[in-house]
Amino acid sequence: MELKRPVTIFDTTLRDGEQSPGCSMRAGEKLRLARQLERLGVDVIEAGFPISSEGDYNAVRQVAAEVRGCRIAALARCNPTDVLRAARALEPAARPRIHTFLATSDIHLQFKLKITRQQALEQAAKAVALARSWCDDVEFSPEDATRSDVEYLCRVIEAVVEAGATTINIPDTVGYAVPREFSRLIETIRARVKVIEKAAISVHCHNDLGLAVANSLAAVEAGAAQVECTINGIGERAGNAALEELIMAMHVRPDAMPYATRVNTAELWPTSRMLSEIISFSPQPNKAIVGSNAFAHEAGIHQHGVLSNPLCYEIMTPESVGAPGNRIVLGKHSGRHALANRCAQLGWPVSGERLNEVYAQFIELADRKKNIYEQDLLAILGAAKIPTAEAPIARAQSASGD
Ligand SMILES: [Zn+2]
Repeated sequence: MELKRPVTIFDTTLRDGEQSPGCSMRAGEKLRLARQLERLGVDVIEAGFPISSEGDYNAVRQVAAEVRGCRIAALARCNPTDVLRAARALEPAARPRIHTFLATSDIHLQFKLKITRQQALEQAAKAVALARSWCDDVEFSPEDATRSDVEYLCRVIEAVVEAGATTINIPDTVGYAVPREFSRLIETIRARVKVIEKAAISVHCHNDLGLAVANSLAAVEAGAAQVECTINGIGERAGNAALEELIMAMHVRPDAMPYATRVNTAELWPTSRMLSEIISFSPQPNKAIVGSNAFAHEAGIHQHGVLSNPLCYEIMTPESVGAPGNRIVLGKHSGRHALANRCAQLGWPVSGERLNEVYAQFIELADRKKNIYEQDLLAILGAAKIPTAEAPIARAQSASGD
């Protein structure tokens, strides 16, 4: 068997994810999710941005003290106050990492930071050296890397690696890159920055064009050794690369992506549900891997196929991601096969002419109603007992809450 190249999974749900509107978390909630991320098997948990608030400082400290199975990272801008604050918050960590960042694109330097390229380069190197004096694991991110001048970007990377950075994270801060161009950027950095072997290359992609996962995988193919991602793809604006999508892409297509991670795929669904509960919103129903419809089938031809052999229309099993099982949704696109299956499950097996009658009535009703409830079907079947369940039949199928 071909040897798989290891890829480090850096989860930033508690930092970048938390920055998205409506996603802020209290310290106790961060700790609960951090423990689940540890069970999931991520390598690095970015727990927060300690300088941003007293609450976040405490949250990072708490996660650092109690979650021992992962590396714990804290974010800091490139100045002594931020770096010191991050170092303090990480004091209890078994394996701490300080993550510093400074923009390198002209638009950020000119309008946001109001400093020259040379000043930014020196500031970055100084902050990294300071961080290294506190911690032997230091990550540096040239913010807005994909819109930075490549020559200059390479000079900054060289300076920070020489100052002691152990991971160089290339962020597509504004979600502007496309896969081929992004992988070329990684190749360029590997070719031009002589000292780059001393550090690992990481990527951090945003999803403004829906390309975060594709860009991340393109970068891994070009040699990136770490990907930054979030559960359910939450994060600034359109979000970050979704962890569950990256993992399952590698899991389902090892022929195309022979990379190894420590993630236990069966914990993906439970982690997604825990996050949804904490932030009070779920991913959209058609979200890959963890959406409520990710394993649902309504079309008759599909239902027949799935009931005979799930592989007809499923490239992975719901069980492989810890989901409660595929849902055969009864609606106007359903066929006799799925209907007969459901009737039998309800204790009313039908076949032959009787099935045709029930089917005709069912389709007539499904044309008028969006959701067919269990009691609707029982009424058609002429069952005496009408159950009180309020949930549509579509949901009555799943074993646990989804
Ligand atoms: Zn980000």
